[in-house]
Amino acid sequence: MSKRLFVIYTGGTIGMTATASGYAPEAGYLPRELEKIAASHPGFPAYTLKEYAPLIDSSNLQPSHWNQIVADIEANYPEYDGFVVIHGTDTLAYTASALSFMLDNLSKPVIVTGSMVPLCETPNDAEQNLVDAFMWACDDNLSEVAIAFNRQLMRGNRARKLSGSDINAFGTPNYPILGRVHGERELNQALVAIKSSFAFKAHPIRPDLRIAGLKLYPGFSASLIAGLLSTPLDGLVLETYGAGNVPDYDPALLAALTEASKRGTVIINCTQCPSGRVAMGHYAASSALGKAGLVSGGDMTVEAAITKLYALLSQSPDLVSVRERAALNLRGEVSLDNA
Ligand code: ASP
Repeated sequence: MSKRLFVIYTGGTIGMTATASGYAPEAGYLPRELEKIAASHPGFPAYTLKEYAPLIDSSNLQPSHWNQIVADIEANYPEYDGFVVIHGTDTLAYTASALSFMLDNLSKPVIVTGSMVPLCETPNDAEQNLVDAFMWACDDNLSEVAIAFNRQLMRGNRARKLSGSDINAFGTPNYPILGRVHGERELNQALVAIKSSFAFKAHPIRPDLRIAGLKLYPGFSASLIAGLLSTPLDGLVLETYGAGNVPDYDPALLAALTEASKRGTVIINCTQCPSGRVAMGHYAASSALGKAGLVSGGDMTVEAAITKLYALLSQSPDLVSVRERAALNLRGEVSLDNA
């Protein structure tokens, strides 16, 4: 049976054209080009495209945009077989992660894509990424938020933008790819999410939540963290060293983290390494963090941790349950043995 897709076009390099001040999104350009691409690819699915106004460079993305995307998916969910979200690459991994937590019980694919080179340039990676995204969005075996980029299919909440210039811009350093296009589309059935038989539900997030991220570096001071935490914050993703370590020479740092946790800031400990995991307690330098109330991010990406905080803190005011669920594997974003 022929598939029908709903396509949300938010902006990004993919549909930009050259202006006097550099590349900028041009309304109407990508939809016109997409019609030509569809006509030249036999078997291209039927689709309805919604172009956002204004189209944005995704470095301008705000959490409120996630609510808009989710509302559009929710409104069109029953009528369509799959969804494609066309997005700038800079914050694409955040959006894919956010959507994964905001969309509950998916039984259809939601494929996010963009490109490093705009459609208006030749050669570009835009046309191939679009075609791949549309084809994956027709796949009955997929029922999760995934990213189609440079011939690969990746779990959305495991992905990171790894290059600012290479067309192989995305990867999932802590998880295998879900599939690839190598002549044929090859999906790794053992890795993809199981189709939900429960009713689909969309959860908006609260864009007013105060979530921060902080990457440790030699020389940061406890007073700097204490200042940030006194804002006050609803959530913090602390990017620590290696397996989740922080310096333990200064008791003021631990005191600031403990105080903030007590006041209600949910703090997730993520490693700043591109791959590997947090194992709190493995070294003396991290063992006190659990007692200070920090949640282990395990092998979660920072993008997943930040958007998970948005989702969980929006869904429940119960901080005990938010902390518990932050450490759990909700959408395949963290390996089960998270400690
Ligand atoms: N700055 C652009 C954006 O994120 C980069 C891109 O799309 O590749 O919208």
